[in-house]
Amino acid sequence: MGGVFVFLGTGGSMGIPVIGCSCDVCQSDSPFNKRLRSSAWITYDDQQFIIDVGPDFRQQCLKFQIKAIDGVLITHAHYDHIAAIDDLRPLTFRNPPLPVLLSNDTAEEVKLRCYYLLKPDPVLSLPSRLHLEIFDQESGIVDFQGVPIQYVTYLQSGMKVNGYKIGNLAYLTDIKEFSPTIFEQIKDVKYLIISSLRFTASPLHFSIDEAIDFSRKVNAEQVWLTHISHELEHHQTNAYLPSNIRVAYDGLKIEFN
Ligand SMILES: [Zn+2]
Ligand SMILES: [Zn+2]
Repeated sequence: MGGVFVFLGTGGSMGIPVIGCSCDVCQSDSPFNKRLRSSAWITYDDQQFIIDVGPDFRQQCLKFQIKAIDGVLITHAHYDHIAAIDDLRPLTFRNPPLPVLLSNDTAEEVKLRCYYLLKPDPVLSLPSRLHLEIFDQESGIVDFQGVPIQYVTYLQSGMKVNGYKIGNLAYLTDIKEFSPTIFEQIKDVKYLIISSLRFTASPLHFSIDEAIDFSRKVNAEQVWLTHISHELEHHQTNAYLPSNIRVAYDGLKIEFN
């Protein structure tokens, strides 16, 4: 069993460049400093999944030539992670409804915003576009499209957010507060993807040093940072980091098991 993980986006909630910003990172010519909103494309056991559908999702599908997927995993209901749920529609034409894995809390938000995608359309004689597969525990393992997916829960400013582990890879974005039990839950992870916004402290996100500290406790072989703000220049940040922790970039592909 092999998996491929592609970073479709590695930017924070505003992406890079930030609209109207003239800072060195936003003005940089380096492709490493251009970041769409955080999202990922996973192939595992012949199944293709997307994690989060932020506002750049349509552009990401076109850029990476994503033509068909088997399911979507949602981490939480902030705009930069679910804004483009409606753009999933073209990916549901082949075999509706498209399964979406998410927590009860996140599902409540999605039901409010995208209610019309969750029921058949009698006018157009269309079946429902999406099917929500809801888990109501804080952590566990679900069978999603034949793939065992482990989920964990942590907090961002009081909001519950889910991280996912597939095989020996874990994706934990928008993490700020967590229970120490998380280290037990993801203990055999080889590849850790974790969010880190900037060097200075943030009430919503790990700083670089907080991400380093967390990563040491996970003891993963390889760590990639995502959800990056324009305060982090790609190469300068890498120079600061331990050798097994690197800043991810849009288009980076990881093979895992
Ligand atoms: Zn976010
Ligand atoms: Zn900037």
